[in-house]
Amino acid sequence: MIDVEKLKAQLDLRQLVERDLGKPRFRGRDYVAFKCPLHSEHKGYSLVVYAHHWRCFGKCHAGGDAIAWAQHYHQLTFHEACERLANGELPQIETLNTVHRMPEPIAQPPDAAWQAKARHIIDEARERLWSPEGQRAWGYLVWERGLSEQIIRLAQLGYIPGAPTAWREIEGLNVPCGILIPWIVEDTVWGIKVRRAAGEQRYQQVGGGNIRGCLYLADRILPRTPLIITEGEFDALIAWQVGGDFARAAAIGSASHARIDRRWYGALLGVPRMIACMDADEAGTGAAAQIAALSGAVKCVQVPSGKDLNEFYQQTGENVVKEWLQTVINGGVPL
Ligand SMILES: [Zn+2]
Repeated sequence: MIDVEKLKAQLDLRQLVERDLGKPRFRGRDYVAFKCPLHSEHKGYSLVVYAHHWRCFGKCHAGGDAIAWAQHYHQLTFHEACERLANGELPQIETLNTVHRMPEPIAQPPDAAWQAKARHIIDEARERLWSPEGQRAWGYLVWERGLSEQIIRLAQLGYIPGAPTAWREIEGLNVPCGILIPWIVEDTVWGIKVRRAAGEQRYQQVGGGNIRGCLYLADRILPRTPLIITEGEFDALIAWQVGGDFARAAAIGSASHARIDRRWYGALLGVPRMIACMDADEAGTGAAAQIAALSGAVKCVQVPSGKDLNEFYQQTGENVVKEWLQTVINGGVPL
């Protein structure tokens, strides 16, 4: 009789998977990542493996424990998987053929009519943020998020007053009340994200935008300058603020959508080093894996404390964050 729980507890799944797949693409604080063989992954490194569980953040979404890994990868029954794990006997199977996919079309911004309305909303919200009615929202950005006045202005952040769950109709568009984060690249408005003061869904959008097709702060990327890619917009703004003279920043906006559109590859080409700094949770890990798939210039890191750059900044302050960013850019932090 095999004691499955004991068996699993003894195993380090990372080593087991490494035996099957070879060296991982990268190692995080407590995980390793690979190309997912279960869906013949061509581009990414979606398979993320921890000591006792694994998950594919790409197409197949498979996941589980060591037994599930052996079942999936070696195509075994549950019983066979237990037996082979107990024996330490783990045969290789042939690598599945890679699938070539057609390139997807390049993302397009919303039409000119929507952009004109969005611009009115952004202008109104910006004025309100810098007026007495925006005082609390302004205080939140400065004192809680650590953003400087200069960055708030550069990012064209704004504020639409109202209850945390309220919406207001402006220019015929439904606008969630809260702090407005415009997604503008050069002069094109791709979307408007809103950070609510409370509620289950903290981040919402003005309908009709195309934030998924955009890369936040893409027009601030400079050739020959390292780039810090974060999950959240406020994290990217802090990275930009702190890294100003040695790095730039961009944000994907959400860990559930880490795919960077081909449209922005040109801007990324001249970047000598990309640091993917996602939130220290499972979704963030998956997002980091996807971004790492873009190029060998990507390095995945997690902040030493707190769940994201903003929290790390709040806990430690500008100098510590600056030093840490410089260290990870220069490759001084082992993963
Ligand atoms: Zn997969």
